[in-house]
Amino acid sequence: MHTLIFCIFLIFCILMLSGPRVLADSQTIRISTDIAPIHSLVTQVVGDRIKVDLIIPPSQSPHDFAMKPSQIRALDEADLIVIVSKGFNPSIGRHLNSLDKSDNVLNLADYAIKHNSEHAHLLHDEHTWLNPETAMLWLEEIKEVVSTIDETHRTEYERNAKKAIDHIREWHKSLQEQLTDLDKVQYIVYHDAYRHFAHAFNLAIPHPIALSDARAPGAAKLKHIRSIARQSKCAFSEKQHDDAIVTTISAGFELKRGILDPLGSDVPTGPTLYSELMHSMVKTFKDCLSG
Ligand SMILES: [Zn+2]
Repeated sequence: MHTLIFCIFLIFCILMLSGPRVLADSQTIRISTDIAPIHSLVTQVVGDRIKVDLIIPPSQSPHDFAMKPSQIRALDEADLIVIVSKGFNPSIGRHLNSLDKSDNVLNLADYAIKHNSEHAHLLHDEHTWLNPETAMLWLEEIKEVVSTIDETHRTEYERNAKKAIDHIREWHKSLQEQLTDLDKVQYIVYHDAYRHFAHAFNLAIPHPIALSDARAPGAAKLKHIRSIARQSKCAFSEKQHDDAIVTTISAGFELKRGILDPLGSDVPTGPTLYSELMHSMVKTFKDCLSG
């Protein structure tokens, strides 16, 4: 009998000792992210300490991407889900609504830079990561939420976030200099995704063919874009979409062509993707709009 009581006591002691240690172990924490630029920002904060899953490959459009069962499972098992917004990828949005797990979702659109009525045109464009100022704001928010889940390593996450923010601030300034005096040059883009980029780099407001969720435009809109093509210097297609419609719009006009990659499909995923995709976007714009 004494042996039995001793055994129960021993098991109790083991449970008491092992319990909190398991909870604080960051190796067991899982984070899920929707698109590669967000995945890149999160990995800059957590480094190798936490596993970060990427749901939508950067070669595919997030607007019509449908999750596979393995991706749904990753989302279900995640301790934290970091996304642009629930509307950005409808497949993720619908699943999160059905889960009712909103307490572990970091909806980054809630932390975008607030604009006054002068910049109301920015409100309908959710491709907010293309403004580095927003990315810096998001890094702060990501650091805060991750530190709440894994308080033990808060100092490390704070240090990583600060380093990432300092780096962005540095290249944002030098990239802005590369695009000076181009604010009057008109251009056409495949879909309504570049308002924040144009705002951050002092370019003219873009003329999109397709809508912000990449839906095809109607006949009236196409006619309007053809009239704009007449005064434009450049037409940009995208890595993630067929360029047929851009070719149709440009036909008969002396338009230069460029291919944008707002999700970083040409560079390795991970911490450096965000900076590399922004550098490549600036280069594509500069090559097409200047000269
Ligand atoms: Zn888009």
